[in-house]
Amino acid sequence: MLYKPRTKPAELQILSALNTRMTLSTKDRQHFFNLSKGYEGEVKFDALTEKLQCDCYILNDLLLQANNATFQIDTLIITAKTIYIYEVKNHEGEYYYESEKLFKLPQYEIVNPLHQSGRSESLLRQLLLKHKVSLPIEASVVFINPEFTLYQAPLDKPIILPTQVKKHLSQLNSIPSALNEKHKRLADKLCALHIQESPYQKLPSYTYEELRKGIPCLKCHSLSTVVEGHKLECRECCHKEALANTIMRAVKEFMLLFPKHKITTRAIHDWCRIVYSHRRIQKVLNQHFTRVGSNRWIYYK
Ligand SMILES: [Zn+2]
Repeated sequence: MLYKPRTKPAELQILSALNTRMTLSTKDRQHFFNLSKGYEGEVKFDALTEKLQCDCYILNDLLLQANNATFQIDTLIITAKTIYIYEVKNHEGEYYYESEKLFKLPQYEIVNPLHQSGRSESLLRQLLLKHKVSLPIEASVVFINPEFTLYQAPLDKPIILPTQVKKHLSQLNSIPSALNEKHKRLADKLCALHIQESPYQKLPSYTYEELRKGIPCLKCHSLSTVVEGHKLECRECCHKEALANTIMRAVKEFMLLFPKHKITTRAIHDWCRIVYSHRRIQKVLNQHFTRVGSNRWIYYK
């Protein structure tokens, strides 16, 4: 049973918006690419764990603290006798394993996810101990991408290769498990301990003025969109969408990028740029927000 769903990280949402509206540096673009690739992999794994029929609680994307250290768990599954944690990797291409290290061919070393996974396991154990929970933990690294090959994969390490994921989950499914109140308390506890990380720490700096204005296409993220009647049309991929929805999407983006800015008809009109009528913007804002203030001082919450 899905207990804590995964949401798209705010950092990823912001980078995605910025990628459309400004030219990211090579470093930021790479970071954005890695984040979205990682997220895609996690979502793929979620689609498989959601099918589990056994009595279990699935908690996705936990950020926890133990012993003054912060650690992240991509997927945590509570069963009656064991807690399973997974570090999900969406790497693609050919890799090899040698002396506890992981290399992308020909010889580019990447962070060994087994180390990350081991660290999370150890910190989770300390956290559980503090809360007097004594369930054993089994940690694994899941390589979810079918285009991933690992040469010299060690047999004695908790690695789940793309061809083994389904089998692993069906084994998990077949273990008899009956959860009780104690397990529910644990799931609630972990959700309560989850930290909401501020996404603004690792982002490039940006100002309202330097960002490109407009309403991006939902499908291809292009800003080459035009208003045609009650629709927004993309000049790049021809995708059409109800204009009101696209305005609302632009408002949400504005709120995410500029949490301190007030939402006013004028501000959103400028942000969307291609919608000529103020009234149309106002209508959407009236529908979705509460009006505060009066006359020229109206803003929305
Ligand atoms: Zn498009």
